Amino acid sequence: MNNTARVLNGVEIAAQIKAEVADEARALAAAGITPGLAVVLVGHVAASEIYVRSKVKASAELGIRSEMLTPPDSITTDEMLALIAELNARDDVDGILIQLPLPKHVDTRRLLEAVSPQKDVDGFHPINAGRLLSGMPALQPCTPGGIMEILRRSGLPVAGQHAVVLGRSDIVGKPVAMMLLNASATVTVCHSKTVNIKRYTRDADILVAAIGRPGFVTAEMVKPGATLIDVGINRLTDAAEVARFFPGDETRAAQFVARGSTLVGDIHPAAFELAGAYTPVPKGVGALTIAMLMHNTVKAAKARRGMAGHPPAATKA
Ligand code: NAP
Repeated sequence: MNNTARVLNGVEIAAQIKAEVADEARALAAAGITPGLAVVLVGHVAASEIYVRSKVKASAELGIRSEMLTPPDSITTDEMLALIAELNARDDVDGILIQLPLPKHVDTRRLLEAVSPQKDVDGFHPINAGRLLSGMPALQPCTPGGIMEILRRSGLPVAGQHAVVLGRSDIVGKPVAMMLLNASATVTVCHSKTVNIKRYTRDADILVAAIGRPGFVTAEMVKPGATLIDVGINRLTDAAEVARFFPGDETRAAQFVARGSTLVGDIHPAAFELAGAYTPVPKGVGALTIAMLMHNTVKAAKARRGMAGHPPAATKA
């Protein structure tokens, strides 16, 4: 591995953000305010249960009151709408998070639109998406917000840089492209219909990969010295594949033997050797998401009470 490539440690940056959130929560507590987060977990999806437990744990550590609502799989869209209306009306709830994915029979889009934009700590409501598009203060999606925090806190320039985003999902690709544009990058967005992706990626000063394809971005697709932001989280369960992605990496091999799987991002590990800076997988972008959720909850608690919140992560340069 090239020792000159700078590793952008998501765990350390997340710890900084969490410490700031805890300070803010303490200041609010002194004013008699406890920020409150309601997490709605429908049914029993193992991965969702793990995520939700992590969110509840982080809340407790930072002085945020959290509660978990666990309606059964059989809940209808109308019943969910009633539950959300109740949470919207409660003064002790500042943030509402509906853990996705929801069962197929439930109308996810309608539910996300039913959450009060003021309490939309996932930043998925069309009002918040529109405010982001307009460069107005908003509750912003957590993973894209985390990416901007990594760039900002690592002192990496964004203004004037060519940022290429792979993926155009509503939760990662589109919002991060908008945040980069708001921060004065020149932005190209690629997706599954883009012809000759390499043509764009090779010109990227900042490359954000969010497509969910293990090791898709290879070394020959990367401009030497670029900043590589790897959002992908892909689980490898095949020993031969692990050996192919991480040849000679004994730590990975041992981890794979112990756990039966290991994670790889959308960027091939060999491409990191060419980078100026990169986020590893794990301990990169993924580490930021919960910290940003906590940040959003405190921000929502303040904004609802007319108190100044943080400036939005991606202000114009
Ligand atoms: P998604 O909704 O499945 O969207 C994938 C995007 O990638 C789509 O826009 C798709 O294009 C594009 N794409 C797929 N295959 C492609 C290809 N071969 N070439 C170019 N573009 C391609 O995924 P997502 O929710 O944005 O998540 C992306 C990845 O990030 C996943 O690995 C996910 O696990 C990870 N993730 C991590 C975090 C975190 O770190 N906390 C949070 C969210 C997601 P089309 O639009 O044309 O179909």
